Amino acid sequence: MSTILFNEIVFGPVKSRRLGVSLGVNLLPRFGKWCNFDCIYCECGFNKDGKEDKKLPTIDEVWEALADKLKNHDQKIGRIDNITFSGNGEPTLHPNFAEIISIALDLRDKFTKEAKVSVLTNGSRIGIKDVADALMKVDNAIIKIDSAIESSVRIIDRPQFDYSIENIINNLIPFKGRFVLQTMFLKGSFGGEYFDNTTDEEVNAWYEVIKKTEPREIMMYTIDRETPVQGLEKVTTEQMNRIAAPLVEAGFKITISG
Ligand code: SF4
Repeated sequence: MSTILFNEIVFGPVKSRRLGVSLGVNLLPRFGKWCNFDCIYCECGFNKDGKEDKKLPTIDEVWEALADKLKNHDQKIGRIDNITFSGNGEPTLHPNFAEIISIALDLRDKFTKEAKVSVLTNGSRIGIKDVADALMKVDNAIIKIDSAIESSVRIIDRPQFDYSIENIINNLIPFKGRFVLQTMFLKGSFGGEYFDNTTDEEVNAWYEVIKKTEPREIMMYTIDRETPVQGLEKVTTEQMNRIAAPLVEAGFKITISG
């Protein structure tokens, strides 16, 4: 089983398929994973594999680590396209997420004006006011919806709380036209259940969510690295292009990473 953990608060920069040269910020434990989903494709592994370390970085530690990387970044690490909150789990679970976002925006303005601040989130906490306000301030609130059918979400993303797609859509309404939707396309089976989020039923339900929430951009991608569950199948770029075609025609901005 693969497990890639980010052992630093600020890591990289890494060359990302979707975000260019990306400096990562990990607000989760450095030697363990913490998420309220438990996706079968998570590159950090399953939640149960990250139990031991529960220590979150403090606001001061994040400030110091980010300021240190950004100061003179031209000489030390070169140009940065994105300061990206991702890391070992769900960044919005950090109790000081909103304050830390403000700090990151200030440091960005001071040291690397051209870089964007992006947050990769599973969207579970966008109904919480300070989290939503913080996500509204960043350049790219990248919010995951892998399926608009709850039974599939339970297999693919395995939310560890009472998940409801209806709640997610309602919470997305204030973000209409302002967020980036991110969807992982894949097929396979887990726990004896087969799933495929490229079927007509899946894609039509996904189109409906897009119609209601009008993302500013849609990032479609598929498996690129080893996953904790063996035997998951990638979806081809051609297939994602076919799924994207009506949305492209309707004027949506789409990026596809195969
Ligand atoms: S939401 Fe992200 S961090 Fe959480 S389990 Fe899924 S892929 Fe991993």
